[in-house]
Amino acid sequence: MYETRISTLEERLLKADEDRAAAITAQKAAYEAERAACEAIEQRMAQFEEILRRSGQLPSAALLRIEDGWNWTAAPDGKYTTRSSYIAIKSRRSDCQSQNADAKSLASVWTTPAPHKAFVTLWRILRNRLPTCDNLSKRNTSLGDEERECPHCHEHGESTNHLFTSCAKTQEIWDEIQKWIGIILARPCTIGLHWKMFCYCGKNKKVTKLLRMIWVGCCWILWKKWNDKKFEGKDWEVKDLILELKARTWCWNRMFGVLDKDLDFSLWSYDDLIFRSV
Ligand SMILES: [Zn+2]
Repeated sequence: MYETRISTLEERLLKADEDRAAAITAQKAAYEAERAACEAIEQRMAQFEEILRRSGQLPSAALLRIEDGWNWTAAPDGKYTTRSSYIAIKSRRSDCQSQNADAKSLASVWTTPAPHKAFVTLWRILRNRLPTCDNLSKRNTSLGDEERECPHCHEHGESTNHLFTSCAKTQEIWDEIQKWIGIILARPCTIGLHWKMFCYCGKNKKVTKLLRMIWVGCCWILWKKWNDKKFEGKDWEVKDLILELKARTWCWNRMFGVLDKDLDFSLWSYDDLIFRSV
């Protein structure tokens, strides 16, 4: 009788132990499932934010990661609404309008006779996607005052427009290019207008292609030299850039045949190139 009671007690204890183990396992599984669901949501939110940022339609830091959730900075109360999103996208577009080239001039990028590496830089310039100091600041990268300023004139902040159009050194470059190609042009201070003006003033398709090639070549070499100066302290002269530009575009012309592929380099590099070649 006594042994039977002991045995029953043992069975009950064993059962209770098994039940407890099962409850703990179920609780762990529920916890893991909940954590996985939270991570999936966070991941999807991050992807969504990245897509919006890349498409240039989200003001920087519109979504802020805060403890236990997200804060939608485009609305005063931090809560996402379709209306606040619409207003944010609209204001972003009007901000970018003066800097970015429009769709028509962007489409002309693909017919520019230049190698892919230069092409990519052209696309990033016209979309204002180069990692210039002003763009890095918009993405909350902390930079010192010295890092923010133009490494050449030290008078202005570094931006795509300053770098490729309005810096004193850049203007010297465009002056030299105008002498070389034999066309006098105005000096728009935004990159989109500069591209459009430069690339739509050709009197025929051949000249237009030639101008695009030279514009791309200039900006591509300038971006490299700009970074050499900024990160390695390498000084460079305008005449060096012009010589490299003439040499590179001469090679590109041999590849793409905008003008006669066998044109001698000395003829290519003389002044009034367009006047002589049309
Ligand atoms: Zn400058």
